[in-house]
Amino acid sequence: HADVAMYQAKALGRDGVQFFTPELNERAHKRLRLESRLRHAADRSELALHYQPRVAAASGRMVAVEALLRWDSPELGCVQPAEFIPIAEESRLIVPIGAWVVREACRQHAAWKAAGYGAIPISINVSALQLRDPALVGTLDAALAEFGVEPAALELELTESTLMEAVEETLAQLHALKRLGVKLSVDDFGTGYSSLNYLNRFPIDRLKIDRSFVRRVLDDPADLAITRAIVGLGHTLGLQVVAEGVETEAVAAELRAAACDELQGFVFAPALPAAELIAWLVERRAKVGSALEAATPTI
Ligand code: C2E
Ligand code: MG
Ligand code: MG
Ligand code: MG
Repeated sequence: HADVAMYQAKALGRDGVQFFTPELNERAHKRLRLESRLRHAADRSELALHYQPRVAAASGRMVAVEALLRWDSPELGCVQPAEFIPIAEESRLIVPIGAWVVREACRQHAAWKAAGYGAIPISINVSALQLRDPALVGTLDAALAEFGVEPAALELELTESTLMEAVEETLAQLHALKRLGVKLSVDDFGTGYSSLNYLNRFPIDRLKIDRSFVRRVLDDPADLAITRAIVGLGHTLGLQVVAEGVETEAVAAELRAAACDELQGFVFAPALPAAELIAWLVERRAKVGSALEAATPTI
């Protein structure tokens, strides 16, 4: 926390020198405030997971949910992941927070199953620091065991850039995760710099095409071409391909035509609190049936 300590020292004017403009000072203060509040957020039950459905492109049936972290702070209000995840990463708070996410996702999976909604596969997002944490496999193993969750029902989303950092180290960890039996997907695919050679060596199950391509498939022929190429690449490597950020039915139709396997986005539902996700699912099942039986052999 050298940088934070320095910000603090400067902000307090301890060295008597004002290096920061008032605006920078304000930003440093805000960061510090966020970090110290975030440090206690999990203990004070201010964190929650919301769940966004992922649907089969062909049938529209829900096949899984992605757990997305929400922070409702009594002092700061609703803080967006874009604002607090980078701070959690820089301060390494993402490691204990990530462990909370793992356990909470397993708890929710078991609660839904016990309530008769089926074994809904859940994916969670995992940062680079968490992936490189030697305790990750143990954390996952303990949570899966505590709640009796089938490992294949849990999927870890790792961004392309996370995977391409420290490749050899990453590869060993990915194999340890595969031995545990969890699924792995590459998040925000297309925004980093994948070596196709590594992609082939990584024991991954799924590619998630980044929203930046998906939202422009109708307007930009290059983005449509990239999307089609990613689907082709994924299928050649034996991977499932998901498009994220699908906002309209017209985009969904274009992605179905491009042979995308699964779709996720606001056109179906945003990330919802657990109870609202179930209400959505019940309505969805009444309309298009349940995908969970069909998905069982592969999950
Ligand atoms: P991500 O994993 O790529 O998640 C997708 C983001 O896109 C989510 O934002 C989701 O709400 C949003 N989204 C989904 N569909 C649409 C759509 O149709 N249109 C638009 N405009 N947006 C859509 P969110 O929840 O704000 O999360 C942002 C990022 O924060 C995530 O990106 C992920 O990288 C990170 N994150 C969230 N939860 C966690 C967590 O538990 N752990 C870690 N390490 N990172 C997390
Ligand atoms: Mg994700
Ligand atoms: Mg993503
Ligand atoms: Mg992202």
